[in-house]
Amino acid sequence: MPELPEVEIAARNLRRWTHGRRIERIEPEPKARYVFRPATPASFARGLEGARFGDIRRIGKQLLVTLEKDGAPVGLLAHLGMTGKWLRRDGDGTATRFSRARFHLDDGAVLHFDDMRLFGRLRVVPGARFEKVPEIAELGPDPLERGIDLERLAHALGRSRLPVKVRILDQALLPGVGNILASESLFHAKIDPRRQARSLTRAEVRRLADGILATVKETIAREEGPEIAYVEEGAENPFLVYAREGERCPRCRRAEIVRIVQAQRSTYYCPRCQR
Ligand SMILES: [Zn+2]
Repeated sequence: MPELPEVEIAARNLRRWTHGRRIERIEPEPKARYVFRPATPASFARGLEGARFGDIRRIGKQLLVTLEKDGAPVGLLAHLGMTGKWLRRDGDGTATRFSRARFHLDDGAVLHFDDMRLFGRLRVVPGARFEKVPEIAELGPDPLERGIDLERLAHALGRSRLPVKVRILDQALLPGVGNILASESLFHAKIDPRRQARSLTRAEVRRLADGILATVKETIAREEGPEIAYVEEGAENPFLVYAREGERCPRCRRAEIVRIVQAQRSTYYCPRCQR
């Protein structure tokens, strides 16, 4: 499932593929109308056809693409959902397996927004005024772009009785940290995911922040490339504890990784290493 690292890779690929390019035509899949809501597939396409690509930013799991159309800025907000991905194909018209929209560029390439499970989302943002979009306005500073402010993190955790794993999934606190990154970062930091957020010491908050950044950077280094595949699609599992219930812990090599459910989501951890 795409989280901060996978969306960062998508942003880097899109920058490379779209630099200076113009969208000649967009073919949205009429049956995938959920992806374009509240717009219709046709009105989504009309909003961006003829536009030229400019800046591409990422905040958390959101991709903010600024384009220029008829001399004015227009935005594309893209969220990969659970299985979304951007793929580039030469313009021979062959669609990728779960292609939901095809962007035909002026260099002959075609960008596919591919999404098996249809939780992804593409939306035109008038004037590229992303700050007016509620899901963007509520996001905290991006951990990779801006680093993690220890004071702010310690303050937020210190006021919460929630299990630390659940608390750090808040996108207003740590945008881009999802279920996978949360388990991996807590393993990195040797912190039991069940502990109350406010029980963490200052040293543990620092270890957690370090664990998040280290996990983000390691995941980007491991997965970066033009074609990404997710564990949920049957790809090889690149993570240390995520989805490894019953396997031996890669650090202590003695305990088995345990799976528990917190706030309706799976958490994976080593009961021996994480205290
Ligand atoms: Zn262990």
